[in-house]
Amino acid sequence: MASERQIHVGDVAVGGGAPVAVQTMTKTETANLAATMAQIRTVAEAGADIVRVAVPREPDAEALKTIVKESPIPVIADIHFNHTLALKALAAGAHCVRLNPGNIGGPEKVAEVIELARRLGTPLRVGVNSGSLPKHLRQLEYDNPVEALVTAAIETVELMERLQFENFKVSMKSTSVPNTIASNRLLAERIPYPLHLGVTEAGTKWSGSLKSAVGLGTLLADGIGDTIRISLSTFHAEEEVKVAWEILKALKLREKGPVLIACPTCGRLQFDMDTVVAEVEQRLEAYEDPVEVSVLGCAVNGIGEARHADFGITGAKDMGMIYSKGEPLKKVPTEQLVEELFKEIDRYYAAGKTVQKDEAEAAEARAWLEENEDTTQMTPERIAAMEAAAAENDQAAAAVLDSMLEPAGVVLDEAASPVAGRRFTRS
Ligand code: SF4
Repeated sequence: MASERQIHVGDVAVGGGAPVAVQTMTKTETANLAATMAQIRTVAEAGADIVRVAVPREPDAEALKTIVKESPIPVIADIHFNHTLALKALAAGAHCVRLNPGNIGGPEKVAEVIELARRLGTPLRVGVNSGSLPKHLRQLEYDNPVEALVTAAIETVELMERLQFENFKVSMKSTSVPNTIASNRLLAERIPYPLHLGVTEAGTKWSGSLKSAVGLGTLLADGIGDTIRISLSTFHAEEEVKVAWEILKALKLREKGPVLIACPTCGRLQFDMDTVVAEVEQRLEAYEDPVEVSVLGCAVNGIGEARHADFGITGAKDMGMIYSKGEPLKKVPTEQLVEELFKEIDRYYAAGKTVQKDEAEAAEARAWLEENEDTTQMTPERIAAMEAAAAENDQAAAAVLDSMLEPAGVVLDEAASPVAGRRFTRS
């Protein structure tokens, strides 16, 4: 359920079915042009579609003129409390201005900002934050924080509409993941405007990434959200961008760069997989194409679930194997696995995305795999495959039962049953 309306932040479409845009915010003092531009270039390289910069002082608004001209991606000016700075940011050419109409100094000042935005054709991001809801919603916030957030956001939208301004997106930020999910679900049903998603003050790289993945991932999986920002306590804004991309890639909403698959390892692991996976991940950063690469910790399981990977490696103590799309390519000493893997990947691209296979080497690798595969081992992959097959069998058995019982007028109640959770009642 993408938003009905679409706006454009610079040349980036937001909402109305456009790809979910990745945003981040610079952590530098905006007026420090060299530092701010360096960070903007870094986040753009990491894949940010849009960048936001804080504009708390006059020199920041002044610097914005240059930033907007030199930035490779559209720039949003982040303004709080000061409508004069909002006017200056608009005049400086910001591609969008973020403000909270509740803290900008009253309806006349909001109207003044809206008037200039309208004249320049610049969109706004308006919204509310759980930490700064208007006074008249304090009791509601206490009784029902989700309804309070949604009410505040809708009041903001109504204010924009009264001012006949519709070139905006809306954000509703909360530090609580459940409240972020519940409030955005409600708001998406009630307004047609694009939604910016984020969990505010999410935390460190580790906890903040997880909170954001759960909160934003849940909404995005429902089709809610048109642009996202991952807020992490790190100076390296590009980390926020990388996390945002991983969320979008995991949900198959956007494609960017390679996909790495790695087994979780278990007691059958036969080589130093931690180091190998880290090296593979780091070297894959140099590739733009969404090539899928798999790393398996042992060969006892065969190629198993990595059968669809474009390339993969699996290792034992001294020897390992490189494979492609489920087919062994060659056997190599374990310490050369990564190097040889990337040689194969490069040969594939050099040949116009065609896998290059030497039949003699492939035969040797197949023989090695046969020696090392052990079909009697209950690996995590095989247990998962057996569980999936058992679930399918349950469904097949239930279908047979359906066909047998239907003529006798027996209805299957799905709530409780010995077969796939079914219960029998006679109609
Ligand atoms: S059995 Fe599976 S999880 Fe365990 S090391 Fe081998 S591939 Fe990895």
